[in-house]
Amino acid sequence: MVSAPPSFGPDFEEDLYKCVHCGFCLQACPTYLETGLETESPRGRIALMKAVNEGRIGPSPTVSRHWDLCIQCRACETACPSGVPYGRLIETVTAEVERHRKPSLLPRVAASAILKGVLPHQGRLGLLTGGLRLYQRLGIQRAVRGTRALRVLSRRLADLEESAPAVSGAPFRAGGQVIPARGERRARVALLSGCVMPLVNGPEMRAVARVLSRNGCEVVVPKEQVCCGAIHSHVGDLDTARKMARRNVDVFEAAGVDAVVTASAGCGARMKEYDELLQGDEEYGARSAGFAHVVKDVHEFLAELPFVPPTGRLDRRVTYQDSCHLVNAQRITEAPRQLLRSIPGLELVEMDGASRCCGAGGAYAITQRAFSLRLLDSKMSAVEETDAGTVATANPGCLIQLQLGARRSGKPVQVRYITDLLDESYGKESLA
Ligand code: SF4
Ligand code: SF4
Repeated sequence: MVSAPPSFGPDFEEDLYKCVHCGFCLQACPTYLETGLETESPRGRIALMKAVNEGRIGPSPTVSRHWDLCIQCRACETACPSGVPYGRLIETVTAEVERHRKPSLLPRVAASAILKGVLPHQGRLGLLTGGLRLYQRLGIQRAVRGTRALRVLSRRLADLEESAPAVSGAPFRAGGQVIPARGERRARVALLSGCVMPLVNGPEMRAVARVLSRNGCEVVVPKEQVCCGAIHSHVGDLDTARKMARRNVDVFEAAGVDAVVTASAGCGARMKEYDELLQGDEEYGARSAGFAHVVKDVHEFLAELPFVPPTGRLDRRVTYQDSCHLVNAQRITEAPRQLLRSIPGLELVEMDGASRCCGAGGAYAITQRAFSLRLLDSKMSAVEETDAGTVATANPGCLIQLQLGARRSGKPVQVRYITDLLDESYGKESLA
């Protein structure tokens, strides 16, 4: 329930009235393309924001439902000729709505408990993923999935179980370690460990560090770093996101590095916009602007270095899924493809709508499950048409979502990080 009138502020209004309702963004919007409804389009959502801002309607649950269904993929921002910063608009609206909403639905309660009670605490998150690892290793998951008992007990619980990520190996710990550069040192970088990725994809995080090291980078992994705050921003908890941003600015500034490298597109997008998040903060406002310039997505960073092309062969047909946070928020499209094409034997085939959201969207896969799955199934059909055996991606949220898609489709499709494929190719060099 939304009970109080919103107060969006003057900066919000300036952004909001840039929209001239031309509709150029409609064909880029996955929720509009799926539904054909104006209210599920960027233009429709902005019209609702204007109506609420002008007091013509209230921010009722019927209205906020249309904002909730927005994945925050920001494809509309890329398509907009008027430069409407839609990401900022929806972030502000979500935060305001969330301040007044009672978490009445189970998915929201679960999402809120995970976001506020678990994600900011690496220890609790570690316990949760440790339990999940055991659940998968001991074969309990296979047994549970083999019966329909859980679904009979609780459909929502069964949905959550079905979406649980596969924990791939021992976690990656941010322990202040320094991984030396291989050969001549070309740069000193700090690696953002993140929250979910180091616990769920520990081996893949180690592969990122190896790839950087192979490219002449000394990699430091500061122990005091925290989650980037992206998921908190996504669900409107901006206070927690700001707290995390301030801590990360302190920690990474003190690391004395040439770049802060992120292996997750969502984290990179959030950290590059810390200056917006901390705007008006007396101490951190100016510092975060400088900080944002040293944050680099790992693919962008490697392409700019430039990277050492691998020579180990990987005979695979691969298609690439653009992560929304890489393509729309960071506007990076070529670097990941350049890295993939550099791998000998790897054939890169483009899928239809590679930059269309897969439905992951932070907590979206939990809070808007039905719609998220609709987008995912469309995505997997596009993957299938390419006849590729591997989907490459640059974001843990997309990886987890696409792995779910592969399970749902029943097709033997592997989902891999680009850095993982690179690492595999570098690893074969001594054998070549
Ligand atoms: S957001 Fe941009 S593209 Fe979409 S209707 Fe408004 S001005 Fe046009
Ligand atoms: S952020 Fe994505 S889902 Fe939301 S309105 Fe824009 S294009 Fe549509």
